[in-house]
Amino acid sequence: MQLALCPLFSGSSGNSVYLSLGGTRLLVDAGVSAARVEAGLRELGADASELDAILVTHEHVDHVRGLGVLCRRHDLPVYANEGTWSALLQRERDFPRRLMRVFYTGEDFTLGRVSVRPFSIPHDAAEPVGYAFSCGVLSCAVATDLGHIDEGWLSAVSGCQALVLEANHDVEMVHRGPYPQRLKARILGKNGHLCNEDCARAMVTLAQKGTRAVFLSHLSADNNLPELAYNTVCEALSGAGYAVEKDVRVMVSRRDRVSDLLLLADDGDAMAR
Ligand SMILES: [Zn+2]
Ligand SMILES: [Zn+2]
Repeated sequence: MQLALCPLFSGSSGNSVYLSLGGTRLLVDAGVSAARVEAGLRELGADASELDAILVTHEHVDHVRGLGVLCRRHDLPVYANEGTWSALLQRERDFPRRLMRVFYTGEDFTLGRVSVRPFSIPHDAAEPVGYAFSCGVLSCAVATDLGHIDEGWLSAVSGCQALVLEANHDVEMVHRGPYPQRLKARILGKNGHLCNEDCARAMVTLAQKGTRAVFLSHLSADNNLPELAYNTVCEALSGAGYAVEKDVRVMVSRRDRVSDLLLLADDGDAMAR
């Protein structure tokens, strides 16, 4: 059995993550146009029409921009909780009801052979969630748009071998940067976004619980640099005694194009291309 995980797009201009696990193909969020999601999937040799479902984390436009078109075009069921649905439907009243699926945050459900756990995250949306996925011994999680480290999401993603985890900003860059004070306060606030340093702290804890690969994701274009996020997390892991790339593979999700494809097999081999 194999796990394939790949952020197609990442950041405030749009987020979408593809994963294939135990023969089930899923998309988490569709935050760029349907055409761009389709093109991203094609680059991986996947096809949007072969997806089993789309899961939505929250209603912010950088997570749902292409959702309506994509699900209609390929007749794909869309999973979200009640809070997210009501926020989405306020904007998109004609969303096809036949494609809507509802789950309860914190309650596991199954898609094909994959067990899905939606967990609550601290973010300024109606009912935002991250997702943990498992099938046999393989597991992964998607957790971005995290205002701060809390026990809830940290324990929900603990033990997952591969993660898509937010490293949004460098705190100093936000303070010195051009954003208006209100926006700075939102980003740095309890329900905003996770900074590099907190991501690094979380990764040290998660490496102890068995995480072997991470995509640093949802990087700010103005308040972060890929190498700064990468170095901050790698230094923390090295400081805690982990050999980066050997014990824990660290990758940075790309903003406007498909990132590396991570492949994990249940015999323990990790590969990326
Ligand atoms: Zn958001
Ligand atoms: Zn976002």
